[in-house]
Amino acid sequence: MKFKALLLSFFFTLLLAFNAYAQRTVIHAGTLIDGVSDEAQSDVSIIIEDNKITAIEDGFINTSGSDQLIDLSDKTVLPGLIDLHVHLESETNPKKYMEAFTFNEADFALRSTAYAKRTLMAGFTTVRELGGSGVNISLRNAINQGFVDGPRVITVGKSLATTGGHADPTNGWKNDLMGAPGPEVGVLNGTAEAREAVRQRYKNGADHIKITATGGVLSVAKSGDAPQFFEDELDAIVQTANEYGMHVAAHAHGAEGMKRAVEAGVLTIEHGTHMTEEVMDLMIEHGTYYVPTISAGKWVAEKAKIDGYYPELVVPKALEIGPKIQNTFKQAYEYGVNIAFGTDAGVFPHGMNGKEFRYMTEAGMPVMEAIKSATVTAATVLGMEDQVGSVESGKYADLIATDKNPLEDVTTLESVSFVMKDGKVYKQ
Ligand SMILES: [Zn+2]
Repeated sequence: MKFKALLLSFFFTLLLAFNAYAQRTVIHAGTLIDGVSDEAQSDVSIIIEDNKITAIEDGFINTSGSDQLIDLSDKTVLPGLIDLHVHLESETNPKKYMEAFTFNEADFALRSTAYAKRTLMAGFTTVRELGGSGVNISLRNAINQGFVDGPRVITVGKSLATTGGHADPTNGWKNDLMGAPGPEVGVLNGTAEAREAVRQRYKNGADHIKITATGGVLSVAKSGDAPQFFEDELDAIVQTANEYGMHVAAHAHGAEGMKRAVEAGVLTIEHGTHMTEEVMDLMIEHGTYYVPTISAGKWVAEKAKIDGYYPELVVPKALEIGPKIQNTFKQAYEYGVNIAFGTDAGVFPHGMNGKEFRYMTEAGMPVMEAIKSATVTAATVLGMEDQVGSVESGKYADLIATDKNPLEDVTTLESVSFVMKDGKVYKQ
């Protein structure tokens, strides 16, 4: 007994000693936009212990002994930003369509580490990866395990499509190469394969599901907006996904495909180019979020004018759909559709994600609302509102800072000067 008591007291002493040395980080923030409040605050101290925010205090508090002070008293501090639509495995370039034939998985994987780091340095501490070959699942794990610097990655692995659909990986290939990819690689027809494709993603380690509900711009296929799933296939996908605790994101340009997807219960509509009032009413009724990706629309419309940048079949689609997205966003915002921030980074160079704020405000959304779409709203879409998306006690210490106040100059979000993720400083 005596020995046990002694041992116990020894451990308590050790614990006390450890606590005394537990380092606090104190950030003096000149301006704080906390991600949830409607107003910015001035002269605030943010206390961080380990990887969590433990307190927010008025004024610049004095630090003591082992405290580490980070002086951001001339900057604006915000929660780490969240981009709900990125593709970390690749990046736009005129030779991209050849990469399917010349790259091994390792080539995609290694490049993705550079894109992930660039994304983090741009102030995006959490992203939803909306589909590549699937090696992004290993990227997520490598970041979580500390081998690679990058944002928190929430991933769908690979997008699901029907045969010839936007995410059929063999579109445009010669007959003997295209074969008939099946549910294992995310190509499905009918309800049984729909369930199988979702369950395969779950087994592979995906967090959520992405479908290409209509045609798309960059696939080598003719239609950019025809519906590509039947209602029963959509129901099978959403129901199966929800049973595994996964939500469904739906890429969609055409109204009919959007309508079917919203009615089946997807959580987000991506791009939404030809959204009608009927679709917007349905989205409001079902609580569906709109993720606009204006940046991608502008980029493809611009690059389609360069001869040879995209395959011939892609050019007319890019010229038609690309320039429309900013106006769709304006209409959806004015109509009252829930907007959550997403850019489609990878369709344009990674690290330029912050430009979306400029495009959103150009179309009439106040800066504070645009910021919230990338903080509290995006966190809610991910079901992570208790962990990320705001500067509040108990949240992960994911913080960024800008030189100027974004409420006065929104473009300052395109060049953030400080990045902390999980309590660790990556940029200062
Ligand atoms: Zn995309």
